[in-house]
Amino acid sequence: MSTNATIAPPDTTRVWISAGCICCHWCQHLIPEVFQDGAGGCQIRGSAREDGVTDDNLTERSRLRSGAIDAKTEEFLSFVAGGCPSQVIHVERDSASGP
Ligand code: SF4
Repeated sequence: MSTNATIAPPDTTRVWISAGCICCHWCQHLIPEVFQDGAGGCQIRGSAREDGVTDDNLTERSRLRSGAIDAKTEEFLSFVAGGCPSQVIHVERDSASGP
């Protein structure tokens, strides 16, 4: 079994929702710690975000808060984003490089 996959710490990850969510609840069922239903579509929970705001995170693009999810769930985000029928879930990870 390979252990070479890079698992990003949650606090280097940004998740946001762009326009077009059809409220199918796929992401909310799979990772309820991050996604929730909202008036205008899916939202990123404030409890999972550094800025504490609950909305689509489209403009803020706040990182996930350290400890909000475990490493396996962080890895699972890409699968969930890929399965979104509207392809409106965006996952971006900071570069691992640094001082
Ligand atoms: S999976 Fe996509 S379309 Fe479904 S609720 Fe989540 S963001 Fe909306």
